[in-house]
Amino acid sequence: MKYVSTRGNAPAVSFEDVLLSGPAPDGGLYVPDAWPKLDLAQMRGLGEDYAGLTAAIVSAFIEAPEWRAAVERHARTAYAKFDDPKVAPLRGLEPHRWLLELFHGPTLAFKDFALQLLAPLMNEALERRKARALVVAATSGDTGAAAVAALAGQSHVDLVVLHPKGRISDVQRRQMTTSKAPNVRNVAVEGTFDDAQSLVKQLFADHAFARAQGLAAINSINWVRIAAQTAYYVSACFALGRPALTFSVPTGNFGDVFAGYVAKKLGAPIKKLIVATNVNDILARAIATGVYTRGTVHATMSPAMDIQVASNFERLLYESHGRNAATLRKLMEGFAQSGSLTIAPDALRAIRATFDSDRVDESETTATIKALYEKTKVLIDPHTAVGLAAARKAAPDDDVVVLATAHSSKFPEAVERAAGVRPELPGRMHWILDAPERCDTLPNDLAALKHYIAAGR
Ligand SMILES: *Cc1c(COP(=O)(O)O)cnc(C)c1O
Repeated sequence: MKYVSTRGNAPAVSFEDVLLSGPAPDGGLYVPDAWPKLDLAQMRGLGEDYAGLTAAIVSAFIEAPEWRAAVERHARTAYAKFDDPKVAPLRGLEPHRWLLELFHGPTLAFKDFALQLLAPLMNEALERRKARALVVAATSGDTGAAAVAALAGQSHVDLVVLHPKGRISDVQRRQMTTSKAPNVRNVAVEGTFDDAQSLVKQLFADHAFARAQGLAAINSINWVRIAAQTAYYVSACFALGRPALTFSVPTGNFGDVFAGYVAKKLGAPIKKLIVATNVNDILARAIATGVYTRGTVHATMSPAMDIQVASNFERLLYESHGRNAATLRKLMEGFAQSGSLTIAPDALRAIRATFDSDRVDESETTATIKALYEKTKVLIDPHTAVGLAAARKAAPDDDVVVLATAHSSKFPEAVERAAGVRPELPGRMHWILDAPERCDTLPNDLAALKHYIAAGR
């Protein structure tokens, strides 16, 4: 098994290479060169061994036996940290609807599933290469916290996380700044999230600086993140035992829902995948009209889905255009120039055979949180509410599993406004509320950030 670029102009690489890489050198994304078929019956035999299931699935994409063993070992450690023995438990909500609770990890959002596994694997790859990496990330909340929790204490990786000063919630900030790990540094940038992200992009664009500092990213286009997330789709199918299940997936960068597509490719009995978006609906529009056009970003109460373009969508475009890299190259070059691309009719038909989409606005999101709480006393976060509202609209009669991507207490203000009660932080997290914080403040200035990074190592 090798990995090839969706744009076809980069050499095929190994699992160890994709572990450590962002985009392929030709600007495309790495995908496996063929889809393995899983022996689902044998996997069902793993029962409730969630780590074993993840290891089996991720290993189907790995040739090297030593990396298969490493995945198994690190998956055991990673998922033992979750606070539910089932790791990704299901909760029945109403007839034909379940929540798949993906918030039992260290930072209360689904990003832990991928990063808790990716971080030690990256560290091991660096160790073998006798190299170090400096991961630099900008965050509007969930990714930064998950990265801090996953990379804290890794021997061959340092982490600098930038967040916009005063613009993330106290819980989100404290999840990062209360880390005691010496290899983690937090920076509050005097600016917006876009300012922080732009600083990070400029850092990486300075190739000499990036090389000298060993800069690395752990962004959502990393293949290993997607492979790891595939496991909870399969485990939900096993647990419910239906002949066909639909999943509704609160979507931003299209990484999570693409993992559902991978699960279907591997043979899981998945009927449809609902791409649930907030008002930043580039994907809903693309699936409805066949035209994928960049929009402007609107801030919503589900900030992890406030995106302009959905990077991982390129992987689905590649699949649906018959894995034709030349076609993809043309499409993506056109998109870079004009901000728009048109999906070929056959490809759109193929996409619609598996994907549905719905856009959920702010008032529907609020109403969904409120009505569910009044009926069942279950509190859901705004991202999950987008998924539930889209499920009811797009697939009223199907058996639908809604991915609960974050715990309600990560977004206490929005949830309290909607439901009238404030969600409680789980007891295991209470310590962050009065632990000392470590954070440096920097102006929105590239030279200052470079100086800070260079001085710290
Ligand atoms: C990151 C995130 C999403 C979006 O996931 P993608 O893989 O980017 O589509 C949805 N909900 C929450 C809570 C997130 O943190």
